[in-house]
Amino acid sequence: MNNFEKRITEISSGGLHSLKVKTLQVNVGLQCNQQCHHCHLEASPQRKEMMEWPTMELVLEAAKNLHCELVDLTGGAPELNPSFRCFIAALRQENLSVQVRTNLTVLLEPGMESLPEFLRDHRVQLVASMPCYLEENVCAQRGAGVYEKSIQAIKRLNSLGYGYESWLPLNLVYNPGGPFLPPSQSSLEEDYRRELGNRFGVRFTRLLTIANMPLGRFRKELNRQNEEENYLELLRKSFNPLTVQGLMCRHQITVGWDGTLYDCDFNAALGLAVNHGAPDHIRFFNAEDLRTRRIVTGEHCFGCTAGAGSSCGGALV
Ligand code: SF4
Ligand code: SF4
Repeated sequence: MNNFEKRITEISSGGLHSLKVKTLQVNVGLQCNQQCHHCHLEASPQRKEMMEWPTMELVLEAAKNLHCELVDLTGGAPELNPSFRCFIAALRQENLSVQVRTNLTVLLEPGMESLPEFLRDHRVQLVASMPCYLEENVCAQRGAGVYEKSIQAIKRLNSLGYGYESWLPLNLVYNPGGPFLPPSQSSLEEDYRRELGNRFGVRFTRLLTIANMPLGRFRKELNRQNEEENYLELLRKSFNPLTVQGLMCRHQITVGWDGTLYDCDFNAALGLAVNHGAPDHIRFFNAEDLRTRRIVTGEHCFGCTAGAGSSCGGALV
């Protein structure tokens, strides 16, 4: 039994179980136009892994059977999948709510000129990475020029109604610039609103704070700086039992680019498929078995339960 499982057992016996599958998160590929220092999936322009259309059709069927509240598309940069628009159109045709996790800068890449209008016309909700309101912090984490391009993309989205209309949410995502926990989500949201509003006149809907998981490039960076054990210890000692009810793995499931099912995107980064007898590939999708499955956990899970907690939807408490 790993240390995380032991902490969970102190709260409830029998391990961590899902409660419902409200969200189907779909990783449509690991290719990205960026190569951020903290990326837990180690996405980059060189990655070739990409979800193909037959797998997307299976996801579509699963989403319909599940009556899920949201289909959450992620990557890499999901926009780089050649079937991205067809997939969204098919999901929306079934009246499924769709959210896209965008890194913003991809919207300025060649061939993406009409994509913001496409997203608006299909009422796609957006969650966009913006790890700080200060240029130097964004560029240090995500690369030179990323801040300026991100602001340009937000302005374009604002001009289409994103961040203004209730049906076009534009949520921004903060993550720490190093091995520390995010500050209070609500007070940081005020800072973002003030700073981005005053400097550029841009608007967004909500700010989501997400902790850096000790995985992928971030873990390698910690290792290089000899900080890995300190960070893991910080996560362990910041365990907050109040976060357990809302852990995202208890309310969603992730489909990897090749159709493998994972309890979350972080388990996907580790290659830890759904287990404990539940179906582990979209081909065998069974809503009933997955709804109350036992979740596969590891030391990295302390990244979700530290402090105010962390999930793809931001802080948990
Ligand atoms: S963190 Fe996001 S934007 Fe950065 S490399 Fe990874 S997938 Fe791409
Ligand atoms: S890392 Fe995944 S499985 Fe572990 S607690 Fe977080 S969401 Fe759940």
